[in-house]
Amino acid sequence: MSINIHPAVDNGIRPATPGFSGGTLLCDCPEDKVEVTIKSQTAHNHVCGCSKCWKPAGALFSQVAVVSKDAVSVTANGHKLKVVDPTATIQRHACSGCGVHMFGRIENQNHPFYGLDFVHTERSPQTGWAAPEFAAFVSSIIETGTPPEQMGAIRARLNELGLPPYDCLSPPLMDAIATHVAKSR
Ligand SMILES: [Zn+2]
Ligand SMILES: [Zn+2]
Repeated sequence: MSINIHPAVDNGIRPATPGFSGGTLLCDCPEDKVEVTIKSQTAHNHVCGCSKCWKPAGALFSQVAVVSKDAVSVTANGHKLKVVDPTATIQRHACSGCGVHMFGRIENQNHPFYGLDFVHTERSPQTGWAAPEFAAFVSSIIETGTPPEQMGAIRARLNELGLPPYDCLSPPLMDAIATHVAKSR
């Protein structure tokens, strides 16, 4: 069985470039591409098994990182963007031409991750972005059709790639959420 986690990790993970300070993300349309400019390195890059994140064809996981929303701007063809699900916590802005999610934004100011945008740096022609560090919501891939009996092999592959598998977010991010909840009480 070949396991396609994600094209950005299947052939080995490219390390971040020290001092890298951002670049552009492009959608998949042949022309009039939506362009998002990010003026910063990203953080907490990871592969995600949830059913909401955009995944390239054939991949079991998405690859998604966070960056300050102040560093994110739409710099070309923004008229093609549409929010996938306006009721979702993360407002995922997708290209209506090709379906690629260009950035996800949290509008709820009380959310622990308010101020951060979610981005897929594989859409960038630049290299040097933060490398994925872990796998989140691994069990959720069963919800989108992965047979449960393959999970052992998939978790083993994630560990082999250096992406520890979690069924929620990583411990530092879960701690950040719990800290936010504790402070707000
Ligand atoms: Zn597009
Ligand atoms: Zn996800």
